Amino acid sequence: MSAGTAVRDLVTLLTELEGTPDIEEFAAIRQQAAELRALAVEAGDDESVHRCDMVIADVLMREGHLGPGGHSARQTLEWAEQHDRPYLRARAHRMLSNFYRMLGDFSEALAHGVQGVSFLPADASPAVRARHLLQLGCALDDNGSFDESDVRYAEVLRISAEVGDDGLALRALNNMAYNAYERGDEPAASALAVRMREVAVSGRGLAAKEIDTIARVEMMGGRFVALEATLAGALTGTIVDVDGDGTAECLLTLAEARRLSGRPEAAQDALDRAVELCELRDLARARVQVRREQAALFAATDRYREAYEELLRYQDSLAALQSTQREARARAMQALFEADEARRATEQFRELAHRDALTGLYNRRHVDQQLAELLGRGGSLSVAIVDLDHFKQVNDTLSHATGDAVLQQVGYLLQDVMTGIGVAARLGGEEFLLILPGFDIVEAARFCEDVRRLIGDFEWAAVTGSLPVTASIGVAAAPPGLTVAAPLLAAADRQLYVAKHTGRDRVAA
Ligand code: GH3
Ligand code: MG
Ligand code: MG
Repeated sequence: MSAGTAVRDLVTLLTELEGTPDIEEFAAIRQQAAELRALAVEAGDDESVHRCDMVIADVLMREGHLGPGGHSARQTLEWAEQHDRPYLRARAHRMLSNFYRMLGDFSEALAHGVQGVSFLPADASPAVRARHLLQLGCALDDNGSFDESDVRYAEVLRISAEVGDDGLALRALNNMAYNAYERGDEPAASALAVRMREVAVSGRGLAAKEIDTIARVEMMGGRFVALEATLAGALTGTIVDVDGDGTAECLLTLAEARRLSGRPEAAQDALDRAVELCELRDLARARVQVRREQAALFAATDRYREAYEELLRYQDSLAALQSTQREARARAMQALFEADEARRATEQFRELAHRDALTGLYNRRHVDQQLAELLGRGGSLSVAIVDLDHFKQVNDTLSHATGDAVLQQVGYLLQDVMTGIGVAARLGGEEFLLILPGFDIVEAARFCEDVRRLIGDFEWAAVTGSLPVTASIGVAAAPPGLTVAAPLLAAADRQLYVAKHTGRDRVAA
C-alpha cells in the first residue's frame, strides 16, 4: 500500500469515526481514535492528528474531564487558525461550545457554537453538519432563543432522516420536545413525544433523558397512567443511561407525578430509590433535587416541620454543590488557559534570547536580524557605534560593580533617547550600537552629537565620584543598494577609531 493510499484510508476511517451515531461506547471510541492518531502521526498528517484529538476530547468531556477536553480544543483551534483549515476550525469551535456549555458560560458557548457552523466548509459530511447544528441549537436554547434553536433542530431532523441516523434525530426531537414543555405548549410537546417514540421503535431505543422528557410531557397533560408505564424501566434499572444521572432524574419525575396525582406513599417509594441511586453513583446534583422534592412531599402530607427541615438541608446542599461547581469551573478554566501561558512563556524566552542581561538592551543577535531586515527594505539607514572612553579605568580605580552600574545607566540613557527613533543595542563590553532608520549621514551625525552630550553631561558623581564618563561615537550611513550589515558596521567602527584617535569624547562620521 502506497503512502498516499494509507493517508486516504486514514481520512476515510477518521470521517467514519467522527460520524459515529451517538457516541455511547466511550472506551471503544477513544481506543479507535488513539490508534488512528498514531497512524496520523506516523504519516505526518497533522490535520488528522488534530481531528483524532477532537474525538478524544469529546469522550473526555462526556466523562467529565472538562479541563483536558477544553485545553485540547483550544490547541486545535490555534493550530487550525494558523494553518487555515476551516473544517478543523469549525470542529474545535464546536468542542469549545460544548466545553463552555458544561461550564455554564452560555454566551461564550453560543459564540463558539455559531462559529462551529459558520466555518464548516460546504463539503463537510451531512452527519458532521448535523452535529454542529445540534450543538448550536443547544447553545441557543441555553440563551433562551428557542425559535432560533428549533430552526436548527428541524435541519438536524431533515439530515438525520437523509443519512438514517436515528440517534441524532432523537436528540433533536428530545430538545424540541423539552423546549415545548418549558414553554408550556402541551400540543406541540405531545406531538414531538409521539415522534420520539416512533423513531425509537425503529432505532436505538430511548435513553434515560429522552424517557424523562416524554414523561414530563405526559405529566403536563395529566396522563399519569401513561407516565407510570413510560418510567417503569427507571424502577427496574433497565433504562439506557448514557449521562449517568438520567435514571435518577426519571425517578424524580416519577415521584413528582405521584405526589401531584395524590399518591404520597408511592411518591416516597420512588424518592427512596432515587436517594439510593444518588448515593450509589455519587450524583450530587440529583441529590440536591431529591431533597427539594422530599420537602415538597412532606409539605403535601402536612408534615410541615419535616418539610421545613428538609428545605434547610436542600439549601445547604445546594450551596455546597454550587461551590463545588465553581471550583470545578475554575480548575477547568485554568487547564484551558495553560495553553496560552505556555505560549506566552515561549515568547518571553524568545524575547529574552534577544536581550542583554545587564542593560536590558537588545543584543548582538537581535542587531544582526534587525539590520538584515532593514537593509532588505531599502531607504536611508545609519548606524552608530558608541564606545565608552577609558572604561577600564572605571573598573580599575573604582570596581567592576561600579563599571556595571555605569553600563546600566548608559543603557537607560540610550534606551530613552532612542525611543520612537530606532534601536539601541549592546554589542558587548562597553560598546553599544544605535540603529537609525531614515537618517542620512548628516542627520545621524547631528543626532549622535546630542547622544554624546547626553552621556557626558549626565550627573555621574553619584556613580563614579570625580571620574567623568564620556563616549566616542563612530557613525556610518548605508550606501544605496547595500544588503548586508557587515560593511556598514565596519565603516562605523573605522569612524570610531578616528574619534578615539582625535581625542575621544567626540563624534566622527
Ligand atoms: P577606550 O577609550 O580606548 O575605549 O578605552 P577602554 O578602557 O574603554 O577600552 P578597552 O577596550 O581597553 O577596555 C574595555 C573594558 O571594559 C575592559 C573590560 O574589563 C571592561 N568590560 C567589558 N565588559 C564589561 C562588563 O560587563 N562589566 C564591566 N564592569 N566591565 C566590562
Ligand atoms: Mg572603550
Ligand atoms: Mg571598547
